[in-house]
Amino acid sequence: MKNELKLVATAAAGLESVVGREIRNLGIDCQVENGRVLFSGDTKTIIETNLWLRSADRIKIMVGEFPAKTFEDLFQGVFALDWENYIPLGCRFPVAKAKCVKSKLHNEPSVQAISKKAIVKKLQQHFHRPEHVPLVENGPEFKIEIAILKDKARVMIDTTGSSLFKRGYRTDKGGAPIKENMAAAIIELSNWFPDKPFIDPTCGSGTFCIEAAMIGKNIAPGLKRNFDFEAWPWVDSELIQAVRNEALAAIDESVELDISGYDIDGRMIAIAQKNVQEAGLEDVIKLKQMRLQDLKTSKINGVIISNPPYGERLLDDKAVDILYNEMGQTFAPLKTWSKFILTSDEQFETKYGQVADKKRKLYNGTLKVDLYQYYGQRVKRSQ
Ligand code: SAH
Repeated sequence: MKNELKLVATAAAGLESVVGREIRNLGIDCQVENGRVLFSGDTKTIIETNLWLRSADRIKIMVGEFPAKTFEDLFQGVFALDWENYIPLGCRFPVAKAKCVKSKLHNEPSVQAISKKAIVKKLQQHFHRPEHVPLVENGPEFKIEIAILKDKARVMIDTTGSSLFKRGYRTDKGGAPIKENMAAAIIELSNWFPDKPFIDPTCGSGTFCIEAAMIGKNIAPGLKRNFDFEAWPWVDSELIQAVRNEALAAIDESVELDISGYDIDGRMIAIAQKNVQEAGLEDVIKLKQMRLQDLKTSKINGVIISNPPYGERLLDDKAVDILYNEMGQTFAPLKTWSKFILTSDEQFETKYGQVADKKRKLYNGTLKVDLYQYYGQRVKRSQ
């Protein structure tokens, strides 16, 4: 197939730069845009980015982009792309998704149907198949997506399958879980390093603790799951195995981590325990049923990350006000600790009793939230 592919990592709004940093850390040059990061690479790049990126949603192949104001433009544009370099004969290639925004073409089902026809025609011609006989589609699947924005069509193939936030360790999630890739991004945005203590005092299903432990031990987030590209005939299964083996060998078993999760709800701690076990991290993460208000520690220079209940989701407003106020009082003595609190409550700082050093707007699903960041005072450890 092709040696040089144009690739796209999609990301939640607000997290593009984090994804960009992760891609550069893999040694790949990239360009950060709204909602996506562009880069290029080969089959190995597809394997590595799917396996290693913690904050991205999906990795897609960019097959082509062209202006499309009419269905004829769309048909000709899709037909002109080099489908024969991606889709082997016999494979399935549903045009699984079409999204039209601010464009003349807006009937998404028609966009899907016309694009499908154009690809079929192209492959029939390329493989010298008669036009009146439908192509057999019973092999591995290539999911095609068309996005038309301001009359410009982008045609992509998804390499990932179910979104990258699905790591494969979460057995149960409780009422208001944070997505795994969002949790990882927030940890990367914090000033946590594996040598610092880490506490999530409202840990729910344990997502932040598990993601921190995986970062600390350098565990690739995709090791426990599969991806659509793994079934593709032109992706060498030995290469996939080699990249997976390299990732296994890269796990740092010697690092000592101090990661704790607490929750007021014993059922959530039981769920978190199961997820921690599923992730193989039961020796690393300490979990305990405890109220946030009872948090005390003599350790220094740690990081607290919390995604407490917010009005919309779990608690009524009055209870949220009290909780945030008590949170402020409980965290205040922990002067050397940095605190990162994710909530949609715009009055959070008033209720907590301190203005944040920095605020960052993020989206938890479709809900606008802010990450309130309080930096700990720096203290040198005693010699
Ligand atoms: N990030 C978590 C979800 C957190 S939801 C995840 O990914 O699953 C908020 C959690 O705060 C809930 O599990 C709730 O039980 C817990 N909680 C509410 N009040 C609390 C308190 N006073 N002390 C500790 N935990 C509390």
